[in-house]
Amino acid sequence: MEKSNSKVNNQTLRPWGAHISIAGGVENAPSRAGKVGAHSIQIFTKNNNRWEGKPISEKQRQRFVDECEKHDIWAFASHDCYLINLAATDKEIIKKSRAAFLDEIDRADLLDIPCLVFHPGSHVGAGVEKGIKSIADNLNWALSKRQDLKTTLTLETTAGQGTSIGYRFEEIASVLELVDDPTRFGVCVDTCHIFAAGYGINTRNGYQETFREFDSLLGIDKIKMFHINDSKKELGSRVDRHEHIGKGHLGVEAFRMLVNDKRFKETPMILETPKGPDGLEDIDNLAVLQGLVEV
Ligand SMILES: [Zn+2]
Ligand SMILES: [Zn+2]
Repeated sequence: MEKSNSKVNNQTLRPWGAHISIAGGVENAPSRAGKVGAHSIQIFTKNNNRWEGKPISEKQRQRFVDECEKHDIWAFASHDCYLINLAATDKEIIKKSRAAFLDEIDRADLLDIPCLVFHPGSHVGAGVEKGIKSIADNLNWALSKRQDLKTTLTLETTAGQGTSIGYRFEEIASVLELVDDPTRFGVCVDTCHIFAAGYGINTRNGYQETFREFDSLLGIDKIKMFHINDSKKELGSRVDRHEHIGKGHLGVEAFRMLVNDKRFKETPMILETPKGPDGLEDIDNLAVLQGLVEV
């Protein structure tokens, strides 16, 4: 994977890409990514709506690695299964979430994927403080079971829908204060989510203030990647609806500031914008981003 990365950098191509479908098997993702001009990708490593997934065979793993090489794809992130809730209160859900989370770590490590992105969790009525404690406890448990993990456990900022935790940077910081080894963790900033959560990155002042706040609470280096999405909903709506770049309430100027921010020049930016089965909309969104780069 390091090879792909350096190649991306040498060509002064930005590590931008999209979430790519694994329909038919993980090994099919790299060629799909190549078709839309992605350089870095995020994938699910199994069906994202099931607790358990089929193991990835050695043949599949090798094919995945070869295909990444062939299409010059940096398989940067895997996204965990949507059923996992590390802040759940139901004992059965916690048990299943823990097991599924370990499986996600193993799959990411098997495929040499540097970041495992996960939603911190939803407290389902128990309250934010208890939820944060449960998340940290479950993460500490997972780390105790996988002391030699390679993938960075990457908390995603949320839009704050329902009882989801992590829509304020303070909440992410609180989780990281309670984990035994914060060096194992990173953050994925989703532009749609933080905007819906109330961070006004669509204005220059709002943009600067948002990342100043992030830096003082967590340190800007904790940002390992961006989910780069516009928002169908307004600032502070706390509703998570992704829109094509420049077509939503965030607007093109927010993305102009982001892609020209020197601090994030080498940070992977992954689209999770709406698309049809062929994913060709990614081509347009990547072109919009490219067009915003000031040389
Ligand atoms: Zn996201
Ligand atoms: Zn979202």
